[in-house]
Amino acid sequence: MPGCRPQKRLDPAEARSRARKALRVMHKDYPNAGVTLDFTTPLELLVATILSAQSTDKKVNELTPALFAEYPDAQAYANADRTELEHAVRPSGFFRNKAKSIRECCRMLLEKHGGEVPKTMEELVELPGVGRKTANVLLAGHWHQPAIPVDTHVTRLACRLGLTRNLDPVKIEFDLQKLAPRKDWAFLSHALILHGRKVCIARKPKCPECRMSGFCPSAEIGGQRPVVGGRCGEPEFRDGLQTPRH
Ligand code: SF4
Repeated sequence: MPGCRPQKRLDPAEARSRARKALRVMHKDYPNAGVTLDFTTPLELLVATILSAQSTDKKVNELTPALFAEYPDAQAYANADRTELEHAVRPSGFFRNKAKSIRECCRMLLEKHGGEVPKTMEELVELPGVGRKTANVLLAGHWHQPAIPVDTHVTRLACRLGLTRNLDPVKIEFDLQKLAPRKDWAFLSHALILHGRKVCIARKPKCPECRMSGFCPSAEIGGQRPVVGGRCGEPEFRDGLQTPRH
C-alpha cells in the first residue's frame, strides 16, 4: 500500500512540536475520539479486538451483538463448539484462527485469572492471540490507562507526520510516548485512526483539505512536493505496512 517514507533525520524538538500541533488540531476536530468497537465489558472488548484484525470495526460491530449474547463469559467461549464458534465469527475473516485464539485465550483466562481479563500489559500479552496492540486497546479503551495502540493508521500517520522514523509498531509506540503527554496517549491513537480514515487516507491523502498540512512534512498541496522530509505513497514501503480495511 502507499505508505510513507520515514524521515531521514528526525529532530526530536521538531517532532515534539509537530506532535503538539497535531494534538491541538485533533482535539478540535475529533474531541470525542475513542474506541469504535462496541463493548460493555473487558472480555467483549478483548474478543472484538481479536476479531478486528484484518477486518473493519463496522463489520465486527455487526456480528458481536449475537456473539456476545451466545457467549456471555470466558467459560462459554472456552467450552464452545469449534465449528459453531467459527461460524459465528466467520464474517470478520480469518475465522478459523480467530475462533482458535478466542477459545485458547479464554481457556487461559479461566486457568490463570479466574475468567477475568487482567489489567496489566505483562499479563495481557501472555494470552494466546493477544499482542501489544490488542493489550494497548484494552488498557486505553476499557481501563483508561495511558496506552498507545498502534495499528496501520497510526503507523502510516506517525510516519507521514514525521513523528517517527520507524515502521515497526512497537518502536512507533515508544517514539510516540516521548512526544505526547501521558494524558493524551490514548487520544492520540484514537484521533490518528479517525484522521487516517477520513483525511489522511492510505492510497490518496486529502492534503489540500487537511488542517495539518501547514506543518506536515509529507503534505502535497497542488502537486507540490513537500518542503521538508518525506513524501506519501512511496512504493518501496507498500509491503512494509498492512493495508487497512477501514
Ligand atoms: S497533510 Fe497530507 S500527508 Fe500530512 S497528515 Fe494531512 S493528509 Fe496526511
